[in-house]
Amino acid sequence: MAAPRIPGDWYNVGNDTPIEYRCGYCDVTVGTRAAYYVQQAPHVFRIRICPNCNRPTFFEVDAQTPGIAFGESVGNLPEQLAPIRK
Ligand SMILES: [Zn+2]
Repeated sequence: MAAPRIPGDWYNVGNDTPIEYRCGYCDVTVGTRAAYYVQQAPHVFRIRICPNCNRPTFFEVDAQTPGIAFGESVGNLPEQLAPIRK
């Protein structure tokens, strides 16, 4: 059951490296740059805003919260993210 879209815009959301992920709320694979993040080398913690349902997903390096309902791998991370996956 997909969550309904949150109306409106998030305050002061930034533009981060674009990524593609499958949203745990609406179960749609989305690509977005919209993010909040903390960079504490070598780790980066990000909150991505889904362009489909407008709900936030937290990424701790590669771990996604909320995850995907049926346990499919996130996969397809662009090469730009490779340096932070050490
Ligand atoms: Zn979504």
